[in-house]
Amino acid sequence: MRRTTRQPPWEPGPIPLPGGLLDWRAGRHYDHWQMRPCALCEQPTPLRSHTGEPAHKVCAGNWVSEHPTEARLGRFASDIQPKRRRDDNHA
Ligand SMILES: [Zn+2]
Repeated sequence: MRRTTRQPPWEPGPIPLPGGLLDWRAGRHYDHWQMRPCALCEQPTPLRSHTGEPAHKVCAGNWVSEHPTEARLGRFASDIQPKRRRDDNHA
């Protein structure tokens, strides 16, 4: 663990397949401070993508299904699954 005052960049996990569901279980997806308009449906949402873009999980999942090519670029991705400590990233 590093001690920094800033949060480290949030590494996104796998991009879901079209029709698949995003896995946004991390608490960091939830902005406790403010609702912002979803980038996709413009309704207020407390949810954020890994890049901080406001979006409902359902909207983001639909977007991935509707834009499979763009989705590969990683606009919305699932969380990294904390399986076991296989890759222990000691820098
Ligand atoms: Zn939405």
